[in-house]
This record gives sequence, structure tokens and C-alpha cells, in this order.
Amino acid sequence: MINLDILIVGGGIGGASLGAKIAGKRRTMIIEAEDQCGYHSTGRSAAFFLESYGGPIVAQLSTASAGFLANPPSEFADCGFLHQRGAIHVSQGSWPELPPGVTAYRIDRYELDQFVPGLRPHWIKALVEPGCADIDVAALHSAFLRQFRKRGGEVRTGARLMTARRDSDRWVVSLVDGSELSAGIIVNAAGAWADSVAESCGARPLGIAPKRRTMVQLRVGRSGLKDLPLINDSDGNFYFKGEGEHSIWLSPHDEIDTLPCDAAPEEIDVATAIDRFEDVVDWPVERIERSWAGLRSFAPDRVPVYGFDRDIPGFFWCAGQGGFGIQTAPAAARMAAAILLGDTPDPTVAHIDPASFSPGRFA
Ligand SMILES: Cc1cc2nc3c(=O)[nH]c(=O)nc-3n(C[C@H](O)[C@H](O)[C@H](O)COP(=O)(O)OP(=O)(O)OC[C@H]3O[C@@H](n4cnc5c(N)ncnc54)[C@H](O)[C@@H]3O)c2cc1C
Repeated sequence: MINLDILIVGGGIGGASLGAKIAGKRRTMIIEAEDQCGYHSTGRSAAFFLESYGGPIVAQLSTASAGFLANPPSEFADCGFLHQRGAIHVSQGSWPELPPGVTAYRIDRYELDQFVPGLRPHWIKALVEPGCADIDVAALHSAFLRQFRKRGGEVRTGARLMTARRDSDRWVVSLVDGSELSAGIIVNAAGAWADSVAESCGARPLGIAPKRRTMVQLRVGRSGLKDLPLINDSDGNFYFKGEGEHSIWLSPHDEIDTLPCDAAPEEIDVATAIDRFEDVVDWPVERIERSWAGLRSFAPDRVPVYGFDRDIPGFFWCAGQGGFGIQTAPAAARMAAAILLGDTPDPTVAHIDPASFSPGRFA
């Protein structure tokens, strides 16, 4: 039987980024249930970096990730993963509010019209967040996996964890093909399946709830949209951003409770997205080019969970990354690796209190 120090369950951005930090220091393997890592949430995101997103605790991780995403070390990647886009938070009433420390400025309706010609009259207030950027998610995820392998980590796909039991101070893990692995620590980076993986390992679920989000690529009767900023409703009913010369990515900002699954878009959510979009701008909708859905999984307080389980020894949570798991991955992995290995935290995350992310907070 293979003897590992650490077994990471899940090869999405959570497992890959943490794996890249710890491989080389411990004998580590990532097991991924699907044939390819990134098949679920990581491969379905809206791919933006928005520092204000997710509230003040999450914003600490986003802010601490920004430098790495923009200018990664040369041994990690040849170029950065961000493409500047900017965001505009629009409102029909009061001024949108952002977490403290996020750079933003107010604009009046005249300036707003320069950014978004055809905006309907009831959108009266707007805040520009210039730091918003697109993230090259596929390149970032591949770079984490590449670094993980380069440092001696092994990735097994088509390798679903079925059960795990404690045998003295180690785990014996059974995979879907009937094979077994032995590991000192299990890292639960199973995204929407985090609670069910916990149960398979005899740990108590934390209430990590998968919620479906729909994305629609729309062709509209407007040109020059490629670099359109992310337009985000401060009440959380929609966002859209430029995709191609005549197309946008649009979401109705839906959060539909669901069981963990291979999520697919529902017609009603696509229709809702278009309906809300038509209330924002007068741009004619020509056709739906494609639509997709993915699961964003949240802990009960919507703050991700990094740390050892309170009751089950050797069981580490890396879950609940919600709608910000890509933009927070570099700093979250640094913080989580320090907790996992008992190391001094990297200076870029030393100011962040790991207690905010501890699974023990749900005691
Ligand atoms: C529509 C949408 C838009 C989003 N937009 C953004 C955005 O703009 N910016 C941003 O930062 N974030 C965004 N997110 C959130 C981001 O995609 C997630 O937070 C992130 O991908 C979560 O990564 P993960 O590794 O935890 O989960 P996943 O990528 O889902 O990876 C978990 C993996 O675990 C595997 N697994 C499960 N059970 C087992 C098992 N028993 N054995 C082995 N493997 C198992 C699964 O197959 C899966 O591949 C968005 C998400 C969605 C759905």
C-alpha cells in the first residue's frame, strides 16, 4: 500500500493550490474523482478578481493574493494571470458600499453613461472599482498542478475517495477502484462534496452548502464590448462583463440550494438573467451563445474553512470557497499550508487571523 504523509481529496483550485505549497515538504498525493481536475466549480467560474467581493474577512485573502496573481514568481509562470477590466457597482438608490481599504470612487450619471451607453435611467448611482480584473483560471490552475508535480506530488484522476478509517494514528483510504492508500493526514478539498467526504471519513459535516450559479454568454446588438467593465448590481441581482466584440457574460446572481452534482443551467434561471439584463441596458438581445452552471459552496457564515477538524485527528478542511475560491487561492493556500504543517506563516498572510477560518468556530 502507498504510504503518504498527506492525501488531498479534490483537484480543483483549492486542492491544487494547497498541494503546490506543501509538496516537497511532505509526501503528498491529490486524488480527483473526475477524469480531469477542474471539471467542477474551478472550470466554471466567471473568472474575475474583485477585491470587494465576499465581505471583509474574505477580502483579506483576495488582497493578499493580488500581487501573486499579477506578478507570479518566474519559476511559477512566465507572466501574470490578471487582465485589468475594472468594475462598476450600480445602484437604483443609495451608494454601493465596499469593504474598507478597497480602492473605489464615485461617478455621476454623465460619467456612467460614458462607460455604459444605453443604461436605463433608474440606475442613478455608481462606484468604480478599478482593480477588478479577469483571471486566466485555466492557466492558474495548471500552474498550481505543474508546481505540485515538479515538487514531487502525484495526481491521480478517476480516483474517488469512497471511505476512510483510522488505523492507529493513520488513515486507510479506500478508492472507487477498490485500491487502498495510507496517509497521515487527509485534506478535504472536495468542493461541493466537502460534507459528504467528511462523513465518509467519520467526521461531522460543517454545513457546507452547494448553491447553483448560472452563467449565460449573450450576443447583443452592440459592438465594442470586449473590454466592458464588470457591471455589478449593488443589490446582488445580476452582473455582466464584456466577452467578445458583441457578446457578454451575464449571471442572474442566483444561489439555488442543491445537492452536490454536475450542475447544469435551468431555463428559468437563464430567462431571469436576460430579464434582469433588459432592465439595465437597452441593448437588443440577439441570441444565447452558450450557458453553463456551477456550484458555489458556502459554510454557514460564508467564510471559507481552513484548519484541522475539532474532533477527528488528521482531518483538515479546505472548503467553502464560495464565489471567491479562485481569487483567494494564492493567499489561502499559503495560510492553510502554514496551519497544516505548523509552520510560521508567509509574511504576506501573517496579518490574517487563521481563527476566522477555523472549523472550530462552528462548535
Ligand atoms: C458560476 C460560477 C462563477 C464563479 N466566479 C468566480 C469568480 O469570478 N472568481 C472567483 O474567485 N471564484 C469564482 N467562483 C468560485 C470558484 O469557482 C470556486 O470557489 C472554486 O472553484 C472552488 O474550488 P474547489 O477546488 O474548492 O472546488 P472544485 O473545483 O469543485 O474542486 C473540488 C473537486 O473535488 C472532487 N471531489 C469531490 N468528491 C471527491 C471524492 N470523494 N474523491 C475525490 N475527489 C472528489 C470533485 O470532483 C472536484 O473536482 C465561481 C463559481 C461558479 C460556479
